[in-house]
Amino acid sequence: MAERWLDITDIPAEGREFDFDDQELWVEGLREFNMDFAPASPLTATLKVTPEPRGALVRGRLTGAVSAPCDRCTREVRVDVDQSFDLFEEEPIPGEESLEPTLLRRRGRVLELDVGGLLWEEFVLALPVKPLCSEDCKGLCPSCGQDLNAGPCKCGGAELDPRMAALRGLTIVKKD
Ligand SMILES: [Zn+2]
Ligand SMILES: [Zn+2]
Repeated sequence: MAERWLDITDIPAEGREFDFDDQELWVEGLREFNMDFAPASPLTATLKVTPEPRGALVRGRLTGAVSAPCDRCTREVRVDVDQSFDLFEEEPIPGEESLEPTLLRRRGRVLELDVGGLLWEEFVLALPVKPLCSEDCKGLCPSCGQDLNAGPCKCGGAELDPRMAALRGLTIVKKD
């Protein structure tokens, strides 16, 4: 995963704010995990790091937007990202295998936070499992592939839809 190490040594007790707007992180991550999302507007974050005796508190917010194909009809959908986070990252103890994965590392007297890893985790949490263009998107006909939002298709494949099956029982009585 794309790492971005931020030096957080010697942060005053009241904390310090950082801005993150490196768009390469998202491009790299989406490519590495082969995800069907593309950046739609810049994903930026502000975070505040406050030192703690055994680690650091990281609070912040990630905002922006990505686009993805609708899970039913494949139309491009804009997905707004607005993810707030409030995390405690524990400093690893030298020579000890930590149980929780931590995003902090110490090199000499320098303490660093993997802000790339942290924001990526928050980004993934913000994404819908199945992006939809609308909650009641009718999707594509499984037989002919027509977008059923545009109207019923002629192939009859849509009759597989149980909502349509009820209609099939109807008989149309013609009056002379
Ligand atoms: Zn759709
Ligand atoms: Zn069809």
